[in-house]
Amino acid sequence: MQTLLFATNNQHKVEEIQNVLPAHYHVITLRNAGIDIEIEEPYDTLEENAHKKAHTIFEMTRKNCFSEDTGLEVDSLEGAPGVKSARYAGIERDYKKNNEKLLQELANKNDRTARFRTVFCLIMDNHVHYFEGICEGTIALAPKGIQGFGYDPIFIPKGSNHSFAEMNIAEKNKFSHRKKAIDKMVAFLESLQHGKS
Ligand code: IMP
Repeated sequence: MQTLLFATNNQHKVEEIQNVLPAHYHVITLRNAGIDIEIEEPYDTLEENAHKKAHTIFEMTRKNCFSEDTGLEVDSLEGAPGVKSARYAGIERDYKKNNEKLLQELANKNDRTARFRTVFCLIMDNHVHYFEGICEGTIALAPKGIQGFGYDPIFIPKGSNHSFAEMNIAEKNKFSHRKKAIDKMVAFLESLQHGKS
């Protein structure tokens, strides 16, 4: 069993990840580890913010750990909200307000193409590794569904007619940016294991 500390307080992300990790990986959240902090995301790139989160936790615990940062990039808004997705409608990180603001910004736009981009930062045996996952899609005309979190009610992944919020975790993971990044991270971890054996 390999234990990895996931530098997040977002339970939805933890569930998505636990759903796809092979059984011999055990993910510990900040809460499980008794760490109660909110880590700032001050940078202009997902990579730097993901690194900040993982590095902060690594400095505190000296344990192998990973983090991720995600942004929703909308083409007709020149990539906004992007790295600022969490606080798009204000510092309170309100999902509903963020969705409403995005729908308003797109009200007069024909192009509704968008993508989720996630970057994982893994700190393993003192080395830093990055893994990216992208999910292409479009922004719906109105919110639909009640599952998931964040922009899920208004994001329709390419290849589906349903929003992420209309899908359970297993269905979302057939398309999800996070799943793609996790697969890369797991492949990397497995290659380390094989190297050792
Ligand atoms: P962060 O990576 O937690 O900073 O997320 C940035 C913003 O994107 C937050 O508003 C999240 O709720 C949202 N977000 C991140 N991942 C997803 C996702 O898989 N679906 C919908 N919204 C997401």
